[in-house]
Amino acid sequence: MQKKQFKTESKKLLNMMIHSIYTHKEIFLRELISNASDAIDKRYFHSLKEGGTTGIGKGDFEIMLSVDKGARTLTIADNGCGMSAEELENNLGTIAKSGSYDFKKDNDQGEEIDIIGQFGVGFYSAFMVADKITVLTKTENGESHIWESEGADGYKIGEAEKETVGTTVTLHLLADTEEEKYSDFLEEYRLKSLVKKYSDYIRHPIKMALTSHKKKEDSDDFEEVTEIQTLNSMVPLWKKSASEVSEEEYNRFYADKFFDYEPPLRVITQNSEGTATFTALMFIPSHAPYNYYSKDYERGLELYSSGVMIMEKCADLLPDYFSFVKGLVDSSDLSLNISREMLQHDRQLKLIAKALEKKIKGELEKLLRTDREKYEKFFEAFGAQLKYGLYADWGAHKEVLQDLILFPAAKLGKKLTLKEYTEAMPEGQKDIYYACGETVDKIMMLPQVEAVLAKGYEVLCFTEDVDEFAARMLEKYAEKEFKNVTADALDLGTEEEKTALEEKNKNADALLSYMKESLGNAVTSVRFTAALKNHAVCLSSEGELSIEMEKVLRKMPGATADVKANVVLEINHAHPIAEKLQALFDSDKQLLAKYTKILYAEARLIGGLSIDNPTEISEMITSLMV
Ligand code: ADP
Ligand code: MG
Repeated sequence: MQKKQFKTESKKLLNMMIHSIYTHKEIFLRELISNASDAIDKRYFHSLKEGGTTGIGKGDFEIMLSVDKGARTLTIADNGCGMSAEELENNLGTIAKSGSYDFKKDNDQGEEIDIIGQFGVGFYSAFMVADKITVLTKTENGESHIWESEGADGYKIGEAEKETVGTTVTLHLLADTEEEKYSDFLEEYRLKSLVKKYSDYIRHPIKMALTSHKKKEDSDDFEEVTEIQTLNSMVPLWKKSASEVSEEEYNRFYADKFFDYEPPLRVITQNSEGTATFTALMFIPSHAPYNYYSKDYERGLELYSSGVMIMEKCADLLPDYFSFVKGLVDSSDLSLNISREMLQHDRQLKLIAKALEKKIKGELEKLLRTDREKYEKFFEAFGAQLKYGLYADWGAHKEVLQDLILFPAAKLGKKLTLKEYTEAMPEGQKDIYYACGETVDKIMMLPQVEAVLAKGYEVLCFTEDVDEFAARMLEKYAEKEFKNVTADALDLGTEEEKTALEEKNKNADALLSYMKESLGNAVTSVRFTAALKNHAVCLSSEGELSIEMEKVLRKMPGATADVKANVVLEINHAHPIAEKLQALFDSDKQLLAKYTKILYAEARLIGGLSIDNPTEISEMITSLMV
């Protein structure tokens, strides 16, 4: 055999490649199996062209894995097209030269040739785990050759003897090190699981002799049996049209792949051609995984290139607000099937992600329209994520998300979309009203809510931390502003009522200032209001930050004391307490201060807030009794 050097700057390139392009060493198996599968497809293609004279039928094709533990070798054998000496030289001797790519180019006349290889680097990944590779190959014309290489030093080609058409690639595995136990690649369980993981949907059977223990007939003894078994399931479910696949099949696939004991809420299939060509099979789970709302949850879809898995969790395929979606994408035109880092900048991938987002949005809208109960179940599990999405990135995703969110409505007692809310607004209602609280029941008890409901207007209940932040980010829906009934000035009364109230507040300026002083920094002002029906007092806020927002922000790590809402103590102008306060201002300022503190404590309790000085307040109340 004559020793040859790799073409081009191959030595350098080879070293670089072997050690930096691939993220996981284990993918070498996927690469060699893909090559074997391509070779079979080529031979099959030739046989069709020749009218089936090559003496091999579709059912005879196979890829066989075998190991020799003593010799530390792993062999991948196929009965594909084989390689001539020239092809060995060109395709294996030249890095980044892909015989498969050329084949596809030369033969693709409109017919679909689904060949995996295209970059001419996959083969070399085997040098991540092997220090020597031997390729024995026989072409359909009967030429047999051997190719051998120990990596960067070059390769040798010679004539050889081989019985059957096809290629046998033998890897002499590297010696085990502390970090890497290469001999693992000789173990059945490891090879089986690698095939399952990366090559399950290769169209041709990937076989291996597996040993198992079987009970002997007529005896309790066990014997070791070795049987050739097919390791891959071969048919990618997503390549079948949705009408051919039963719900049961989808559910089983989902359960097996994503380890979920509950069937998915919805199956989404997508077949796209044009700017981005891909097939997607996605699932909306029926419940949130236990770690969904934590940092541990990893979003992403499985990414396949022509049926070969290239990434387990491709995060770039899903926006954060749809991170609950599980599934996979298969595309034959991903420009590089090698590393995460390179995929991130892939234009094709971005196009696919855009198309998926549109599809998911459409499916959720459809669910909302056609199966309200299911949608509400979905929203129960993942609604918070959609609301975070509204808030994130300065509201950049509102077009996608604003029609997907639901809020419980106080009066109706059911959940409404913003569209439903605004469409049902009675004449005269200008804004969208909401109130914040721990539960719908507690919100219903808020004095300001009572007043708005009495007007015949509906109030949306914001019970989750993120709600008000999301609404503030939206600012408006259908040209209607969001108004917090306990914070914003509500435009409920008539013009006369408003002027009368202003007048009343102005006249009581001295009283109200005195009350404010007696509460110190707790409030920024005290004023009369006409918005309360039966209650004597309530709290509201003025400015950007509402009391609820302050509560949420205070809970966050790193919150500072200057995160503070401007709190206003409001007194029902029509309540007898209003007159009483005025009277005390003239007769007993000390008692007025006491009453003010009690009223403020009441307002806090009504608003679902705690009081800082419960003993002081209790004593004050008791002192009024004795
Ligand atoms: P790619 O598969 O992207 O083309 P590889 O480095 O994996 O790149 O393989 C280079 C080329 O070597 C292939 O395109 C193919 O022409 C040839 N080749 C590799 N393995 C086989 C095989 N088992 N049988 C026939 N040809 C092969
Ligand atoms: Mg390849």
